[in-house]
Amino acid sequence: MVEPTSLVLVIEDDAPIRHFLRISLQTQGYRYTEAETARDGLLAATSQSPDVIILDLGLPDMDGVDLVRQIRSWSTMPVIVISARGKEQDKVIALDAGADDYLTKPFGIGELTARLRAALRRRALQSDTGEPVFTVGALRVDRATRSVSINQRPLHLTPNEYRLLAILVEHAGKVLTHRQLLKEVWGPQATEETHYLRVYINQLRQKLEVHPAQPRYLLTEPGVGYRLAVE
Ligand code: CA
Repeated sequence: MVEPTSLVLVIEDDAPIRHFLRISLQTQGYRYTEAETARDGLLAATSQSPDVIILDLGLPDMDGVDLVRQIRSWSTMPVIVISARGKEQDKVIALDAGADDYLTKPFGIGELTARLRAALRRRALQSDTGEPVFTVGALRVDRATRSVSINQRPLHLTPNEYRLLAILVEHAGKVLTHRQLLKEVWGPQATEETHYLRVYINQLRQKLEVHPAQPRYLLTEPGVGYRLAVE
Protein backbone atom coordinates (compact mmCIF):
# COMPACT_ATOMS: atom_id res chain seq x y z
CA MET A 1 0.00 0.00 0.00
CA VAL A 2 1.57 3.31 -1.05
CA GLU A 3 0.95 6.26 1.25
CA PRO A 4 2.22 9.12 -0.91
CA THR A 5 1.32 11.87 1.53
CA SER A 6 3.18 10.33 4.45
CA LEU A 7 5.72 12.58 6.19
CA VAL A 8 9.28 11.19 6.26
CA LEU A 9 11.81 12.63 8.73
CA VAL A 10 15.44 12.09 7.68
CA ILE A 11 18.07 12.45 10.43
CA GLU A 12 21.45 12.46 8.67
CA ASP A 13 24.53 14.71 8.92
CA ASP A 14 25.81 13.91 5.41
CA ALA A 15 24.53 16.68 3.09
CA PRO A 16 24.84 14.74 -0.23
CA ILE A 17 22.83 11.84 1.22
CA ARG A 18 20.14 14.23 2.52
CA HIS A 19 20.00 15.83 -0.93
CA PHE A 20 19.63 12.40 -2.59
CA LEU A 21 16.86 11.39 -0.18
CA ARG A 22 15.03 14.72 -0.43
CA ILE A 23 14.91 14.61 -4.26
CA SER A 24 14.08 10.89 -4.40
CA LEU A 25 11.35 10.91 -1.76
CA GLN A 26 9.71 14.11 -2.98
CA THR A 27 9.67 12.69 -6.52
CA GLN A 28 7.85 9.64 -5.11
CA GLY A 29 5.23 11.93 -3.54
CA TYR A 30 6.32 11.74 0.08
CA ARG A 31 6.36 14.82 2.30
CA TYR A 32 9.90 15.39 3.55
CA THR A 33 11.57 17.00 6.53
CA GLU A 34 15.16 16.69 7.78
CA ALA A 35 17.58 17.21 10.65
CA GLU A 36 21.38 17.17 10.77
CA THR A 37 21.88 16.23 14.42
CA ALA A 38 20.32 13.83 16.91
CA ARG A 39 19.18 16.78 19.01
CA ASP A 40 17.36 18.48 16.11
CA GLY A 41 16.06 15.08 14.98
CA LEU A 42 14.48 14.39 18.35
CA LEU A 43 12.93 17.86 18.31
CA ALA A 44 11.49 17.27 14.82
CA ALA A 45 10.23 13.81 15.83
CA THR A 46 8.27 15.29 18.74
CA SER A 47 7.05 18.50 17.11
CA GLN A 48 6.22 17.29 13.57
CA SER A 49 4.94 13.72 14.28
CA PRO A 50 6.45 12.11 11.17
CA ASP A 51 4.93 8.85 9.89
CA VAL A 52 8.37 7.28 9.57
CA ILE A 53 11.96 8.21 10.48
CA ILE A 54 15.05 7.42 8.40
CA LEU A 55 18.01 7.55 10.77
CA ASP A 56 21.76 7.57 10.20
CA LEU A 57 23.72 5.88 13.00
CA GLY A 58 26.85 8.06 12.76
CA LEU A 59 25.62 11.45 13.97
CA PRO A 60 27.90 14.20 15.33
CA ASP A 61 26.26 14.57 18.73
CA MET A 62 24.94 11.10 19.62
CA ASP A 63 25.12 7.51 18.40
CA GLY A 64 22.01 6.68 16.38
CA VAL A 65 21.41 3.51 18.42
CA ASP A 66 20.99 5.66 21.55
CA LEU A 67 18.59 7.88 19.63
CA VAL A 68 16.52 4.79 18.67
CA ARG A 69 16.29 3.87 22.38
CA GLN A 70 15.19 7.43 23.25
CA ILE A 71 12.49 7.44 20.57
CA ARG A 72 11.31 3.98 21.64
CA SER A 73 10.87 5.20 25.22
CA TRP A 74 7.86 7.27 24.11
CA SER A 75 6.87 6.29 20.57
CA THR A 76 6.21 3.32 18.27
CA MET A 77 6.78 5.36 15.10
CA PRO A 78 8.72 3.31 12.52
CA VAL A 79 12.49 3.90 12.43
CA ILE A 80 14.53 2.73 9.44
CA VAL A 81 18.26 2.83 10.10
CA ILE A 82 20.69 3.65 7.30
CA SER A 83 24.34 3.07 8.07
CA ALA A 84 27.75 2.39 6.62
CA ARG A 85 28.15 -0.19 9.41
CA GLY A 86 27.32 -3.36 7.52
CA LYS A 87 28.21 -6.06 10.05
CA GLU A 88 25.49 -8.44 11.19
CA GLN A 89 26.21 -7.54 14.82
CA ASP A 90 25.64 -3.82 14.12
CA LYS A 91 22.26 -4.65 12.57
CA VAL A 92 21.30 -6.84 15.53
CA ILE A 93 22.21 -4.09 18.03
CA ALA A 94 20.12 -1.48 16.19
CA LEU A 95 17.15 -3.84 15.74
CA ASP A 96 17.28 -5.04 19.35
CA ALA A 97 17.28 -1.35 20.39
CA GLY A 98 13.95 -0.99 18.59
CA ALA A 99 14.74 -0.02 15.00
CA ASP A 100 12.26 -1.47 12.51
CA ASP A 101 14.64 -2.01 9.66
CA TYR A 102 18.25 -1.56 8.59
CA LEU A 103 19.77 -0.61 5.26
CA THR A 104 23.51 -0.63 4.63
CA LYS A 105 24.95 2.27 2.62
CA PRO A 106 25.09 2.50 -0.32
CA PHE A 107 21.51 1.45 -1.03
CA GLY A 108 19.16 1.97 -3.95
CA ILE A 109 16.09 4.17 -3.74
CA GLY A 110 13.92 1.21 -4.86
CA GLU A 111 15.05 -0.80 -1.86
CA LEU A 112 14.49 2.13 0.49
CA THR A 113 10.96 2.87 -0.76
CA ALA A 114 10.05 -0.83 -0.47
CA ARG A 115 11.12 -0.69 3.21
CA LEU A 116 9.21 2.58 3.65
CA ARG A 117 6.02 1.02 2.26
CA ALA A 118 6.48 -1.96 4.59
CA ALA A 119 6.95 0.32 7.61
CA LEU A 120 3.90 2.41 6.72
CA ARG A 121 1.74 -0.66 6.10
CA ARG A 122 2.73 -2.01 9.51
CA ARG A 123 1.87 1.33 11.11
CA ALA A 124 -1.56 1.20 9.43
CA LEU A 125 -2.09 -2.38 10.67
CA GLN A 126 -1.14 -1.35 14.22
CA SER A 127 -3.61 1.50 14.34
CA ASP A 128 -6.31 -0.72 12.83
CA THR A 129 -6.71 -2.83 15.96
CA GLY A 130 -10.23 -3.99 15.16
CA GLU A 131 -8.98 -6.01 12.19
CA PRO A 132 -7.89 -9.52 13.17
CA VAL A 133 -7.28 -10.78 9.62
CA PHE A 134 -3.88 -10.35 7.98
CA THR A 135 -3.38 -11.17 4.31
CA VAL A 136 -0.41 -11.02 1.97
CA GLY A 137 -0.44 -12.78 -1.40
CA ALA A 138 -2.27 -16.10 -0.95
CA LEU A 139 -1.56 -16.22 2.81
CA ARG A 140 -4.39 -15.43 5.22
CA VAL A 141 -4.00 -15.39 9.01
CA ASP A 142 -7.09 -14.88 11.17
CA ARG A 143 -5.91 -14.04 14.67
CA ALA A 144 -9.43 -14.17 16.11
CA THR A 145 -9.90 -17.83 15.19
CA ARG A 146 -6.15 -18.65 15.04
CA SER A 147 -6.69 -20.10 11.56
CA VAL A 148 -4.20 -19.94 8.72
CA SER A 149 -4.84 -20.66 5.06
CA ILE A 150 -3.09 -20.54 1.70
CA ASN A 151 -5.36 -20.03 -1.30
CA GLN A 152 -8.33 -20.76 1.02
CA ARG A 153 -6.79 -24.14 1.86
CA PRO A 154 -6.61 -24.42 5.67
CA LEU A 155 -3.18 -25.20 7.13
CA HIS A 156 -2.66 -27.22 10.27
CA LEU A 157 0.02 -25.62 12.42
CA THR A 158 1.41 -26.82 15.75
CA PRO A 159 1.00 -24.37 18.67
CA ASN A 160 4.64 -23.22 18.42
CA GLU A 161 4.46 -22.86 14.65
CA TYR A 162 1.36 -20.70 15.07
CA ARG A 163 2.95 -18.57 17.81
CA LEU A 164 6.01 -17.95 15.69
CA LEU A 165 3.88 -17.00 12.69
CA ALA A 166 1.62 -14.80 14.84
CA ILE A 167 4.61 -12.82 16.16
CA LEU A 168 5.83 -12.28 12.60
CA VAL A 169 2.31 -11.21 11.54
CA GLU A 170 2.07 -8.80 14.47
CA HIS A 171 5.26 -7.12 13.22
CA ALA A 172 4.74 -7.85 9.52
CA GLY A 173 7.38 -6.19 7.35
CA LYS A 174 9.71 -5.63 10.30
CA VAL A 175 12.95 -7.54 10.75
CA LEU A 176 12.76 -9.46 14.02
CA THR A 177 16.09 -10.60 15.43
CA HIS A 178 16.70 -14.20 16.49
CA ARG A 179 16.76 -12.99 20.10
CA GLN A 180 13.42 -11.16 19.81
CA LEU A 181 11.69 -14.17 18.21
CA LEU A 182 13.12 -16.71 20.65
CA LYS A 183 12.12 -14.57 23.63
CA GLU A 184 8.55 -14.12 22.35
CA VAL A 185 7.93 -17.78 21.45
CA TRP A 186 10.09 -19.80 23.85
CA GLY A 187 10.77 -17.30 26.65
CA PRO A 188 13.72 -15.24 27.94
CA GLN A 189 15.77 -18.33 28.87
CA ALA A 190 15.85 -19.45 25.22
CA THR A 191 17.33 -16.37 23.52
CA GLU A 192 20.50 -18.21 22.43
CA GLU A 193 18.74 -21.28 21.02
CA THR A 194 18.80 -20.20 17.38
CA HIS A 195 18.50 -23.82 16.19
CA TYR A 196 14.87 -23.83 17.48
CA LEU A 197 14.16 -21.07 15.01
CA ARG A 198 15.84 -22.79 12.10
CA VAL A 199 13.75 -25.91 12.73
CA TYR A 200 10.42 -24.08 13.11
CA ILE A 201 10.95 -21.62 10.27
CA ASN A 202 11.79 -24.60 8.06
CA GLN A 203 8.61 -26.39 9.14
CA LEU A 204 6.50 -23.29 8.50
CA ARG A 205 8.05 -22.84 5.07
CA GLN A 206 7.24 -26.45 4.18
CA LYS A 207 3.58 -25.69 4.95
CA LEU A 208 3.28 -22.10 3.64
CA GLU A 209 5.62 -21.74 0.73
CA VAL A 210 5.28 -23.05 -2.81
CA HIS A 211 9.09 -23.23 -3.01
CA PRO A 212 10.40 -23.53 0.58
CA ALA A 213 13.98 -22.95 -0.58
CA GLN A 214 12.95 -19.66 -2.26
CA PRO A 215 10.46 -18.29 0.24
CA ARG A 216 7.81 -15.78 -0.78
CA TYR A 217 6.51 -15.00 2.74
CA LEU A 218 9.01 -16.01 5.43
CA LEU A 219 12.14 -14.07 4.51
CA THR A 220 15.60 -14.61 5.99
CA GLU A 221 17.81 -11.69 7.03
CA PRO A 222 21.16 -13.51 7.04
CA GLY A 223 22.83 -13.56 10.44
CA VAL A 224 20.14 -11.23 11.87
CA GLY A 225 16.67 -12.77 11.89
CA TYR A 226 13.46 -13.09 9.87
CA ARG A 227 10.70 -10.93 8.48
CA LEU A 228 7.23 -11.59 7.08
CA ALA A 229 6.66 -10.07 3.64
CA VAL A 230 3.91 -7.44 3.37
CA GLU A 231 3.66 -7.14 -0.41
CA1 CA B 1 26.81 10.20 9.39
